[in-house]
Amino acid sequence: MPVKQINSAVANENTPASLNSTRPQKVGFVSLGCPKNLVDSEVMMGLLARSGAELTTHAEDADVIVVNTCSFIESAQQESVNTILEMATHKTSGRVRKLVVAGCLVERFRDQIRKNIPEVDAVVGTGELENILAATGVAPVPRPSDSPFVVLPSRPEANARAAQGRFSRESWDGAIADLPNYLYDDSTPRVLATPRYMAYIKIAEGCDHACSFCIIPQLRGQFRSRRLESVVAEAERLARSGVREITLIGQDTTCYGEDFGLKDGLPLLLERLARIEELRWIRFLYAYPNKITGKLLETIAAHEKICSYMDVPLQHASASVLKRMKRGGGADLFLRSIEKMRRTVPDLTLRTSFIVGFPGETEKEFEELCDFVREAQFDWMGAFAYSDQEGAGAYSLDQKLSAREIERRRRRLMGVQKQISKKKKKALVGREFDLLLEGTSEESELLLEGRTAMHAPEIDGKVFVNDVRDEITPEPGHFYRCQITESHEHDLVARIV
Ligand code: SF4
Repeated sequence: MPVKQINSAVANENTPASLNSTRPQKVGFVSLGCPKNLVDSEVMMGLLARSGAELTTHAEDADVIVVNTCSFIESAQQESVNTILEMATHKTSGRVRKLVVAGCLVERFRDQIRKNIPEVDAVVGTGELENILAATGVAPVPRPSDSPFVVLPSRPEANARAAQGRFSRESWDGAIADLPNYLYDDSTPRVLATPRYMAYIKIAEGCDHACSFCIIPQLRGQFRSRRLESVVAEAERLARSGVREITLIGQDTTCYGEDFGLKDGLPLLLERLARIEELRWIRFLYAYPNKITGKLLETIAAHEKICSYMDVPLQHASASVLKRMKRGGGADLFLRSIEKMRRTVPDLTLRTSFIVGFPGETEKEFEELCDFVREAQFDWMGAFAYSDQEGAGAYSLDQKLSAREIERRRRRLMGVQKQISKKKKKALVGREFDLLLEGTSEESELLLEGRTAMHAPEIDGKVFVNDVRDEITPEPGHFYRCQITESHEHDLVARIV
């Protein structure tokens, strides 16, 4: 079985050209979860490659397999355990000598993994990425400039939250007390696992928010941002190596720079990135609703390279549920904010996500959410079933809803959005957009597929291309002008003009 595909792995400037004289360790990676975890995998692959290890996309060829896990919700934990067990079979049937587990599951269940899955030889938490070398048995190549374990000044919010016990792992049997504080920088080697024309850049790590359904702050530590110059230097290097689309990520990108006193940190960063000539599309994900400033919106509107696209997970629309979620806001406030976003950024594509079935969510509160979705008319929307997490504030709340009822509500909300999505996609027929061609479609060899600026990588729908003029030889990673000819619930069909 192939290990997570390392598509056109790009060795950056910090990756060595030469390998050790003895046969290099062959390391296979499985990266689960979100793009933030993927960047961690890319950093670990970069550290291994720089020290002479060879990366393989086939589990049966690997000497060592690393599973970089997710632990955000129960289903992600289950998927992580299943993958570890599946990869463990290669120790008996293949040449694999070591199995390493990394990532969020380690922060949550460090001791239990070691105790209950004896095939696991080593664990690496999210705050100890450099330990991947010792864990896999690859000798490190020392570099005097390496200084990844930087303890940055924290925000007053972080200190207040810490005093409230926000980052405490006391209730977690098997987790170590130390919070992760790792943050990579532009001198850290990285091997891209994304197609060569696009890359994620993690601009911050950790989170200081109080959301009562979420254990990310305990898993990832306090909010900390990378230095602006470091992000710009990394983006410039990626652009030189052929990357044309950059997606900025972090648990909360809109707090960027606050921990080192930077005002309007994200707009400032976006402005700097927009000056990089080779880049075509720049976007950021995971905006926190009350951190979206006029300056940020004006910056998006002012630069063609910054996609008119916002991802703002709102989580709910009922003020009473949001209060219990410890997030604040409500339908009226959000509608005013959305109106401002659309007024300032013409042709804005707006994505959000909601959690349904939060403890105590009444039918009336759920209906409020459905009404809000009808009114807000999002371009993209995700609905997630509430998942009870030990250590999260909501864990101790009463009035938990049954899994069946939660699923009923999730489907109902998705049904509301389905009608909106269909209508919105239909309105695009006949319009022209720039299209980033990604290659032959997974649906059919007769179709090509790509994305417009309205489509963030991996999470939004696709544009299928079924008509290309004879004189054009379409190449993946290149941009073409396209006209939308058909619309479906999520996807679009286009011709290259
Ligand atoms: S903003 Fe809330 S939901 Fe998002 S990572 Fe932070 S605590 Fe979790």
